[in-house]
Amino acid sequence: MDRHNIVIIGAGPTGLGAAWRLNERGHTDWVLLESHAFPGGLSASHRDPHGFTWDIGGHVLFSHYEYFDRLMDCVLGDQWVFHERQAWIWIQDRFVPYPFQYNIRHLPGDAQWECVLGLVRLRRQGPPFAHPVRSFKDWILATFGEGIARHFLLPYNAKVWAWPLDQMDYRWTGERVAVVDLDRILENIVEARDDAAWGPNNQFRFPLHGGTGAIWHALAARLPQERIRYNTTVAAIDPQRRIVYAENGDRYEYERLISTMPLDRLVACAGLEHLRPAADKLAHNSVQVFGIGLSGSPPPSLAAKCWMYFPEPQFPFFRATVFSNYSPNNVPDPSRYWSLMAEVSHSAHRPLIAPEDLASQVIEGLRAARLIPGGATVVSRMEYSAPYAYPIPTLERDAALEVIQRDLEQLDIYSRGRFGAWKYEVGNQDHSAMQGVEIADRLLDGTPETTLDNPEKVNKGG
Ligand SMILES: Cc1cc2nc3c(=O)[nH]c(=O)nc-3n(C[C@H](O)[C@H](O)[C@H](O)COP(=O)(O)OP(=O)(O)OC[C@H]3O[C@@H](n4cnc5c(N)ncnc54)[C@H](O)[C@@H]3O)c2cc1C
Repeated sequence: MDRHNIVIIGAGPTGLGAAWRLNERGHTDWVLLESHAFPGGLSASHRDPHGFTWDIGGHVLFSHYEYFDRLMDCVLGDQWVFHERQAWIWIQDRFVPYPFQYNIRHLPGDAQWECVLGLVRLRRQGPPFAHPVRSFKDWILATFGEGIARHFLLPYNAKVWAWPLDQMDYRWTGERVAVVDLDRILENIVEARDDAAWGPNNQFRFPLHGGTGAIWHALAARLPQERIRYNTTVAAIDPQRRIVYAENGDRYEYERLISTMPLDRLVACAGLEHLRPAADKLAHNSVQVFGIGLSGSPPPSLAAKCWMYFPEPQFPFFRATVFSNYSPNNVPDPSRYWSLMAEVSHSAHRPLIAPEDLASQVIEGLRAARLIPGGATVVSRMEYSAPYAYPIPTLERDAALEVIQRDLEQLDIYSRGRFGAWKYEVGNQDHSAMQGVEIADRLLDGTPETTLDNPEKVNKGG
């Protein structure tokens, strides 16, 4: 049996962040166990037999941390492509720049009027939140008014989350949803001005070669390889004897365990029956990712676009990405090929309709929105299922997390990361890697964690 001060489960951004920090601080008594033969987790990429590179859904890298920026510079050096975000909403047979609420001037007159009227009515009602707000749905209506809610925010969010919006909390929204300023919206209409710079990801970077996964490959390659065990799936944990059992028969004794596997699976794996009811309250959706490799070049309307949101029900996907625009090396030969990626969410609340036919429905939808022009031939198709895709901030989430995390920590088990901590608001790559870095610091010298304990502070950059 291997014995280690710290055992880490998972070589996604969180587990690698923890390993990096331990290594950086000269702590050598750790081992990292990963199911797959490669690092990256949900941030991995792969190349298909036709030479197209794909991410698990369009990943863009932006950061709330100087440490993370330096880490990214260190692992990939100058091998980055930097982008200004070009995000759009495809609605009523046209593109509207993102954020929708600031750019409603692009809508047909009646829809524009409905959106403005909703906002004016809200202002007339007096101070914001004059009526009690309980759920994400309430919050959308109370913040944006009925028009913006009906045309975009309710249908889009129902699609991306695949979860009833009246069962979701709204307090995670902070920096993720641009709230409205009626004066600014009216000015944009009157002055015919596009207003698309809002938000933390209005600039992002992407690896020049190898997709998003190249970041995590490069980072893992700089760690001591003998401490990373790929093809090692954790099957069970004995939290009393502090032993991790792998499917391949290996056993690892630990003093402290950092887990980045989904929290509900961790609870099951560790046989913590008393935490099952709380774990059962944690909700997530799943995403089917489709990659479409195409001949020719993108049509002029897509030449500079990054990604597009699709709120309307006739399109099965909630988002489409012009993935070849992120790096020319995402396709075998950029003078002859280009690529699109589309994402479809589902859950028990919103199951897939005719899943066997979904790929054709996606291609039809991309053609209907003229993203795939008449002459383009599909030369490659990729489909990937992410069973755990978005951790859903439900109304019950925080109470469940408090119980589970408190009890796990009493057993010296620290569950971190997108599905380890189950907090969407700190579930991107930068947050995840920093959750790993911060738990490593805490275990080494007691430094309090910020990302897990204070997401708002991190996201405000404070
Ligand atoms: C559709 C989609 C789009 C996204 N877009 C973006 C984006 O644009 N920008 C951004 O920054 N982030 C994005 N993300 C989030 C990003 O993927 C995550 O932030 C990141 O991958 C989370 O890292 P993690 O290490 O916490 O978890 P994961 O990436 O899930 O890694 C966990 C690792 O643990 C391993 N593991 C699990 N169980 C076991 C076990 N029993 N034994 C051993 N190993 C195990 C897994 O194999 C995996 O490698 C997106 C995610 C999705 C799903």
